[in-house]
Amino acid sequence: MRKKNFFAGPSVLPVEVLEEIRDNIVDYKGEGLSMIEASHRGGMFEQMYDECLELFRSLLSIPDDYDVYFLGGGATLQFTMIPVNFLLKGKCADYCKTGSWSNKAASDAQKLGCVNIAFDDKENNYTHLPDPSALKPSENSAYMYLCANETIGGIEWKTFPDTGSVPLIADMSSDILSRPVDVKKFGMIYGGVQKNLGPAGATFIIMRHDMLDRRNENLTAYMDYALHSKNKGLYNTPPVFSIWGVKLVLDWIRRNGGVEGMDRLAEEKSQLIYSVIDSSDFYRSPVDKAVRSRMNVVFRLPDEELEARFVSESKNEGMLGLKGHRSVGGLRASLYNALPMEDVKALADFMREFERKNG
Ligand SMILES: *Cc1c(COP(=O)(O)O)cnc(C)c1O
Repeated sequence: MRKKNFFAGPSVLPVEVLEEIRDNIVDYKGEGLSMIEASHRGGMFEQMYDECLELFRSLLSIPDDYDVYFLGGGATLQFTMIPVNFLLKGKCADYCKTGSWSNKAASDAQKLGCVNIAFDDKENNYTHLPDPSALKPSENSAYMYLCANETIGGIEWKTFPDTGSVPLIADMSSDILSRPVDVKKFGMIYGGVQKNLGPAGATFIIMRHDMLDRRNENLTAYMDYALHSKNKGLYNTPPVFSIWGVKLVLDWIRRNGGVEGMDRLAEEKSQLIYSVIDSSDFYRSPVDKAVRSRMNVVFRLPDEELEARFVSESKNEGMLGLKGHRSVGGLRASLYNALPMEDVKALADFMREFERKNG
């Protein structure tokens, strides 16, 4: 019996994808070798990689003037690479602080250059987002930065600011391909794949090609986006296993209605849990209703003892990963694309039953 996997990342993968990996791990499609023991310069990997990039482009409708590739180092390496490339001397970058991940990104950037904090909801414990239409880049801004979905705080931008000629850069680690995105509005979108796209290891980069004209040209090899762009992410050895997993997940998304299919599912699944929360005085969502995340549903119980009991009893029912992040406490259900609807229904039933017994 598979567990019901609510982990925030690494996280649930479609069972069909795991089975496809199992069936091909020793002998990839009769080639007589495994994808993870083949050269990344060889035909077998490159063909799969090209298909993966094409699929990603078509699913997210990424325009032709954007480069798409994968790097290592996680989303965290991008907290450094972005300012190192784009935060040139004499300019400042605008950062929106909306939770843990954007705080980490801003803190790395501050060590490397001038940062203007465009928004910071610290006083409300990161439960609100700014009105995107009121958010304007500062004068002489190098770029504006935001985290589209704060995985820990459970808060998600529903629309994005219009930054005009100033590039908008977004971390979409935890909501990529859960909804359509107008890529044209962004100079760069990136994220770790281990939340919504595949096994941990790769980081996806989507960058408008002319962003390279704004970059610092005096960088060491790995730090330089232009080098990765020129080599389609194959300058050095890419995380081949992770990329293969992403390719299979993208195939699965295409078979299941593409990004529109994922969008509908995300709406249905998150509504199911939020409706349990909203119809009770026992459960409470700390996040402004207008910007609650559909991927990471964060909620509280009346006290911490009940929260601990919720975690341990849900575990006995085969539900894993419902404990909130250690930095914020509480509970969190991550409802990524690959999480089956039945598992969400089981959680909703469990929540009602737990309230009946303890409320
Ligand atoms: C998980 C996560 C990160 C960090 O990703 P790593 O791959 O562990 O570096 C950054 N941003 C967001 C929004 C995340 O969810």
